[in-house]
Amino acid sequence: MSQLTKLYLHAGKDQSPKRFHPWIFSGAVKRVEGDVKNGDVIEVYSASNEYLCTGHYQKGSIMVRIFSFEKVVPDATFWKSKIQSAYNYRQSIGLTDNANTDVYRLVYGEGDGLPGLIIDYYNGTAVIQAHSIGMYRERHFITEALKEIYGDKLKAVYDKSKESLGVSGDKIPSEILSESELKNGYLFGTGNEKKVIENGNTFQIDWEEGQKTGFFIDQRENRKLVAEYAHGKKVLDCFCYAGGFSVYALNAGALEVHSVDSSKAAIALTDNNISLNKSTGVQTSFVADAFDFLGSNVGKYDMMIIDPPAFAKHRDARHQAVMGYRRLNALAIKGIKPGGIIFTFSCSQVVDKYLFHGAITAAAIETGRNIRILKYLSQPADHPISIYHPEGEYLKGMILYVE
Ligand code: SAH
Repeated sequence: MSQLTKLYLHAGKDQSPKRFHPWIFSGAVKRVEGDVKNGDVIEVYSASNEYLCTGHYQKGSIMVRIFSFEKVVPDATFWKSKIQSAYNYRQSIGLTDNANTDVYRLVYGEGDGLPGLIIDYYNGTAVIQAHSIGMYRERHFITEALKEIYGDKLKAVYDKSKESLGVSGDKIPSEILSESELKNGYLFGTGNEKKVIENGNTFQIDWEEGQKTGFFIDQRENRKLVAEYAHGKKVLDCFCYAGGFSVYALNAGALEVHSVDSSKAAIALTDNNISLNKSTGVQTSFVADAFDFLGSNVGKYDMMIIDPPAFAKHRDARHQAVMGYRRLNALAIKGIKPGGIIFTFSCSQVVDKYLFHGAITAAAIETGRNIRILKYLSQPADHPISIYHPEGEYLKGMILYVE
């Protein structure tokens, strides 16, 4: 076994890894023994030289992203066992061999003991997004593991790390990862069927040009709930992106659906997805700002879906974000017909469910309308939250009945 670089924590700073939290913050680090570069695998020791964990090193506030709390050799066998464990979990919750759904998240970072790694599975294509230099460097091991686990079912592996490495936290030092090295592209295969089904609804996914890995898989269960309420309704899908909620509503018998997004490209995806699904309802798309649209379309809808992008990516933007959710939801509550239903969401990790609840309450008070909470919503089981890493919780929502 080759000798891994050792990192020592300050005295008393070993409590966090002993509670299996997957990050070592820079403030806890006393010294690193030897030469260490961003992305290297490193072993973490207490001040009294006790082994604690192994992870990827990267300069910045999170200095080590831990992938093992036992001494390991991070070779092909190790990475395969990690990906296999993520696969087995999805298999046990009925996602891997499901005739109605062939799109799901296979790896959700810390939730699967793989900090810095996202893998989404789209009917034979795995789309990888590395959020750390270390995970980016493991991509060939990960690709081999995927091929072994899926066998013939896997047609392609697409690496979409350019954006995720470029924007996440610390800037990549050019001496470590040059721009030319960091390209999106196929690691296996050359593209494949881009049509997927989710709960029996058909979508065309553009992982190459689309947002994130191509689709917002995290709304699968909430879309199903929208379908339960949509029959016979006039529905507004705000921030529709590829039209996920719009398609479900129409397929469930909505009379009419209006889909709104400020991005032309998103509306093109929506239009295409609407055309792939045959329904009797009428659908119209609008390239528009959702705030403006809500403000000028009062009293028209029985049901609204409000699913904005993250208003806050960092803690220092949290207050502004809360004010944004309040303003947006006040517009929705004011605008919906009496007896209408609103599905409202926030995917800002730094705005937790209590803060979000507070923002919705403030919006409700502002409008003076009577509101019942039908249900609290969250992220689905293929975006698992490790009990040791509550930061993994980000998606929250509420279904409201507005009298
Ligand atoms: N509901 C979607 C995901 C929404 S992602 C789904 O289920 O797949 C957020 C979307 O909001 C993006 O498509 C983005 O283009 C859009 N957006 C961002 N700001 C906006 C604004 N002010 N008005 C309308 N759309 C906006």
